[in-house]
Amino acid sequence: MEKIKMTTPLVEMDGDEMTRILWGMIKEKLILPFVDLKTEYYDLGLLNRNATKDQVTIDAANATKRLGVAVKCATITPNRQRMEEYPELTEMWKSPNGTIRAILDGTAFRAPIVLPCIRPVVKNWGAPITIARHAYGDMYRAVDLETEEPGTATLTFRGESGAEHTMNVQTVSGPAVWQAQHNTEKSIRAFARSCFQYAIAQKQDLWFSAKDTIAKVYDGAFKRIFEEEYETAYKAQFEALGIAYFYTLIDDAVARIIRSKGGLIWALKNYDGDVMSDMIAAAFGSLAMMTSVLVSPDGVMEFEASHGTVTRHYYKYLKGEKTSTNPMATIFAWSGALKRRGELDRLPELTAFGAALETASLETLEAGVMTRDLLGLVEPGFEARGVDSEEFLDTIAEKLRNTKT
Ligand code: NAP
Ligand code: MG
Repeated sequence: MEKIKMTTPLVEMDGDEMTRILWGMIKEKLILPFVDLKTEYYDLGLLNRNATKDQVTIDAANATKRLGVAVKCATITPNRQRMEEYPELTEMWKSPNGTIRAILDGTAFRAPIVLPCIRPVVKNWGAPITIARHAYGDMYRAVDLETEEPGTATLTFRGESGAEHTMNVQTVSGPAVWQAQHNTEKSIRAFARSCFQYAIAQKQDLWFSAKDTIAKVYDGAFKRIFEEEYETAYKAQFEALGIAYFYTLIDDAVARIIRSKGGLIWALKNYDGDVMSDMIAAAFGSLAMMTSVLVSPDGVMEFEASHGTVTRHYYKYLKGEKTSTNPMATIFAWSGALKRRGELDRLPELTAFGAALETASLETLEAGVMTRDLLGLVEPGFEARGVDSEEFLDTIAEKLRNTKT
């Protein structure tokens, strides 16, 4: 059988623990037999990040900027416990995802994988709801103050020009708490661009919601910047694709989301996104079925699973046990990256292969063959059999071979 050719490589970022094991199996069973895979490989495993003083993470992010598409395995973000587990670590290295996001100036989009046998709690959600959370500022970069006596708080901005703006916040007659938040035009605009880029790539409607009726200036700026970007840069493409950009108040959006059929991208401010992404993830079922795509304002994309390295399973694996770790989100990271590479390089066969890989994976689940984490989530009466990761991947590979030949 002729393997599918690639022209430009994609960036491959390897990772840690159980997901690193799955990574190898996915490549061996589902990708390499079918695709003449071209990647620039970066080993973001913790020990190599340590050996390179984390330079490998920076190199991988810069390669992603250059090549436009990346696929990333889950990685350990070291904490104190990890420092004990890996005594060779010379530093408590920062989260690779944070480093990559900063270099790409990107927004992370989290989307569930949905299928008929695992229905979301909200029964009318037939298609995924993707959440885009703005990852800078607001409450997360706020300064807080607690005061005891009566008095007045003011807010002052001092410009480099020397100009000053001061306003009264409030006069209080007793103990009080205070908070000052900010965001930047640049960050909001980059967020808006990433959202429009991703909506175009997915050919899905984009919703954005905030509370500009109350926060007229603050949330008003978010609303205005989204509108400006839409009108000047993306409207024509949206219209050509038949997709819509829709702004509504956050409370109205919440009500509409619950009643929607899904199949849309919902952009949210930092705090709203923090809360709503957990709500959506829980309603769709499982962390193991959540994918994540980091999108830069100019359309560079890095695909990954939302979950971590599944440490508990890795320690069972090290003891020689077979684990039933769910590889779906990591498979979809690969298929997403291959589809994107295919679109950018105009290689319809590569794009079609990415789609076929997704179909074969979904059909395997629909045939009742699944990892054990999903057994408790299937619809009543659905006959399912729990298998280990390897058997699950072999079943997908078998289906893929049958569709390919
Ligand atoms: P985790 O790896 O997501 O796993 C938490 C638990 O969720 C697992 O023990 C497992 O539950 C279940 N689970 C998650 N993914 C699964 C899958 N694919 N199949 C089956 N079950 C799955 O989170 P964690 O244990 O908090 O973090 C482990 C490491 O991952 C940490 O070092 C953290 O820094 C890192 N991390 C990396 C990323 C990233 O690279 N994007 C994201 C998050 C965390 P059961 O044990 O009950 O089976
Ligand atoms: Mg949260």
